[in-house]
Amino acid sequence: MVEVLQKWEELDANDPLSGRRDLFDLPEGMIYLDGNSLGALPKSVSARMKNMVEEQWGQSLITGWNKHGWMDMPARVGERLAKIVGAEEGTVLATDITSINVFKLLATAVKMRPERKVILSDTANFPTDLYMAQGLVRLLDAGHELKIVDPEEIYDALDESIAVMLLSEVEYKSGRRYDMAKYTEKAHSVGALVIWDLCHSAGAFEVELDKCNADFAVGCGYKYLNGGPGAPAFVYAAKRHHDTMVTPLSGWHGHEAPFAFDLDYRACEGIDQMRVGTPSVLSLAALDAALDAFEGVDMAEVRAKSVALCDLFIEEVERRCPEVSLVTPRNADERGSQVSFAVEEGYAVMQALIANGVVGDFRAPNIIRFGFTPLYVSYGDVVKAAETVERVLRERLWDTPEFKKRAKVT
Ligand SMILES: *Cc1c(COP(=O)(O)O)cnc(C)c1O
Repeated sequence: MVEVLQKWEELDANDPLSGRRDLFDLPEGMIYLDGNSLGALPKSVSARMKNMVEEQWGQSLITGWNKHGWMDMPARVGERLAKIVGAEEGTVLATDITSINVFKLLATAVKMRPERKVILSDTANFPTDLYMAQGLVRLLDAGHELKIVDPEEIYDALDESIAVMLLSEVEYKSGRRYDMAKYTEKAHSVGALVIWDLCHSAGAFEVELDKCNADFAVGCGYKYLNGGPGAPAFVYAAKRHHDTMVTPLSGWHGHEAPFAFDLDYRACEGIDQMRVGTPSVLSLAALDAALDAFEGVDMAEVRAKSVALCDLFIEEVERRCPEVSLVTPRNADERGSQVSFAVEEGYAVMQALIANGVVGDFRAPNIIRFGFTPLYVSYGDVVKAAETVERVLRERLWDTPEFKKRAKVT
């Protein structure tokens, strides 16, 4: 016991990111390991929202669009995100929500491979990605097909029939991570395009979209980026595709001259074409303010700490709790920034953990999931969380009717 205490105390004392925790408002006494679902509240957001509502909206009203540059917010926030996901200027836009962006990019990519009919994805993908693809196939009604294979088979399934491959770099349930460079290269070698879903990547570790030669990507603003519930998502298109891509959602904000009010749509140039309608200014401001927490942060440091936090959690939980089995790859190179365990009565176990101050979440059928966000989770949190998992299991704290009652959001 003494040995463990010393270990994490030393790790926290030498943590170059430890000062970042002060930038967040976290409830007293809570160990928050669900930043992979909804990031914690950065203090900068509260002040910014007050200003946005009371000053910008309240006082400037309609003139705010010009006075405060509301119109440019999708691009401005996009540039900040571009730095986090390894994308050059002019290729990322903060807009809409991930599902919508998946649809836009899928339709765009499919049109760029008119002779091919197959969209390839895997059984581990987040369902909305698959649902959006199914909806597009139905809408096109032109013989397209969504082919869903197991993650282990996807590399070999990439052949010349594939128009576009849609993959989540990190799988939401297990936390398994694809090698973006390797899969992108294979896709290109057979002439396919790739859309990467970065929901569990952006803000969690270094992403190198340009270096990996990615075609398109989407990602989420409310998970590791801490933009708040329902925060705007982002969309990326490599510059080499800007001249040929055609978005299916030709809204007025993607028009060359929105305020000319022409009767006919003419797409504007570049990534701005992926805009649809009026931007969610308040939500964009929250995301913008949240990104302050990443200013000056070396993502390599974030990754190093994330690996260490996950390793420590795996070690501590496995040592204490023989009844759980690790679902996440043990090898850090093959995972994102979360740890999932399979355990019987997982739902009730998670409710008991939450009641005891350790917040993670549950994914059917039996997975308890813990996200590690290096900006505000400490090594001490990890050890305390493992102790709580042990106590909940050993004392069967989960075994009550109250904890077995399923809520709408799990
Ligand atoms: C969270 C998540 C989404 C969420 O999509 P929304 O449109 O924001 O609801 C999509 N894809 C993946 C991989 C996710 O993890």
